[in-house]
Amino acid sequence: MAAYHAARTLVDAGLAAQVTLLEKMPRPARKVMITGKGRCNFTNVKDWNEFSAHVRSKANFVKSAFYNLPSQAVVDWFEGFGMPTVVERGDRAFPASHHASDVVDTLVAACHSLGVKIVTEAEVASIEPGFTVTLTDGREWKCARLIVATGGLSYPTTGSTGDGLRWAEALGHRIVPTFPSLTALVPRGYKLTEDKDLHIDRSTPLSELGQSLCGVQLKNIQLSLSIEGTETDSEFGDIDFTDGGLEGPVGFQLSRKAVKALVNGSRVSLVLDLKPGVDLTELTVRVKELWAEIEKDPRSRHVREKERCRILLGKLMPWDLIPGFTATHPEIITLERRGRADTKVWVNLVSIAKALKAWQFEIVGYVGYERAVVTAGGVSTDDFVAKTMESRVVPGLYLCGEVLDIDADTGGYNLQLAFSTGALAGLNAAKSLPSVD
Ligand SMILES: Cc1cc2nc3c(=O)[nH]c(=O)nc-3n(C[C@H](O)[C@H](O)[C@H](O)COP(=O)(O)OP(=O)(O)OC[C@H]3O[C@@H](n4cnc5c(N)ncnc54)[C@H](O)[C@@H]3O)c2cc1C
Repeated sequence: MAAYHAARTLVDAGLAAQVTLLEKMPRPARKVMITGKGRCNFTNVKDWNEFSAHVRSKANFVKSAFYNLPSQAVVDWFEGFGMPTVVERGDRAFPASHHASDVVDTLVAACHSLGVKIVTEAEVASIEPGFTVTLTDGREWKCARLIVATGGLSYPTTGSTGDGLRWAEALGHRIVPTFPSLTALVPRGYKLTEDKDLHIDRSTPLSELGQSLCGVQLKNIQLSLSIEGTETDSEFGDIDFTDGGLEGPVGFQLSRKAVKALVNGSRVSLVLDLKPGVDLTELTVRVKELWAEIEKDPRSRHVREKERCRILLGKLMPWDLIPGFTATHPEIITLERRGRADTKVWVNLVSIAKALKAWQFEIVGYVGYERAVVTAGGVSTDDFVAKTMESRVVPGLYLCGEVLDIDADTGGYNLQLAFSTGALAGLNAAKSLPSVD
């Protein structure tokens, strides 16, 4: 988007678009290919007031960029290049084909239409003010204006390995400490780990508990985040238990604050409310009614207490959640020894209701950049001009996208920020050339 807008500005000024895009991977925009589970939620069409509430860092800094290329303009831009789009629940925009490759193809075609040269397998090793750009294979490029759009540190296999952060720092820019965001949170006992490191690699094997929960998807739940025992946030929606830990839209939503708190040494826990629509008193009544129905049912006559409990839980939660729920809530069943061979099993209905309303997960770590959707932190926006994206430290240098200290929630916001800041950087990098004035 940055290359396109630089070229657009030059062409509109009657000049040839001498814009070259250096991409280290064999093909450009590998990360975009995996966005939105391969469907690419390329923007969110909320207006700025609502959109900005989803920007987790430096919303004020990106405001000018957003107004220069708002999300509706991004939708129109893709439509204008022949890519039909659809807007789904939550104002999230996708290519109508639901193929992320259409977004990549459109970006590439748009660049080619203006004569942008895209050079792949061109890994930049270093940049010198002036500018000289040296590739790892020794090739050199000279340019009057330089835009760095190298992304953050997450999903390094797509090419985003944080190189731009290192160059910016070497050139005298401040770096806001980075950490993974929109990532899985790991509950205590979920993985076979000694809990020494906060970063628990996604490939770390699951424990028995992790195995019993992995694959469970929960809809319409309430998830609350507590830091040092105080609830800070609460979100309604869906979560997934995966091989990484607890994630999904609501898990992701809380992950930024949770990871930051863990990194700062705070105690972090999540409280899962499986029945947010009813309060504890109503739920307790409901649980007791269901239990009475099961006891009355003639088919229950020869069923043991523990199995009856399972039948009860099956009426209150997805079946695949029951093993994890019972393993983490031993208090729901009490054994009363009445004699040598006589043990009475009690099903504690009040405890079940309480556990349904407040399932506690102590969080011991998080999945790192290997599978985090975005990088929080980055090159400090204080060293850049919001209206142009130009560096205050190195004139002629522009930064855009995730390499900067900007990040947002899931829902198309991150790509929109990359597109908006990219477009503004491209426009101003070209506009500032003496030949354009
Ligand atoms: C699994 C996943 C799903 C996501 N889904 C969505 C979604 O649906 N909607 C949304 O809005 N956001 C989503 N995101 C976030 C979004 O993809 C990023 O925020 C966005 O791609 C950032 O754009 P960028 O241009 O700043 O950086 P990137 O997309 O990371 O691009 C940086 C590019 O720079 C290249 N590069 C890096 N270093 C060098 C070098 N030294 N030399 C040459 N080239 C280099 C890289 O190869 C890469 O192509 C998702 C992210 C992930 C990981």
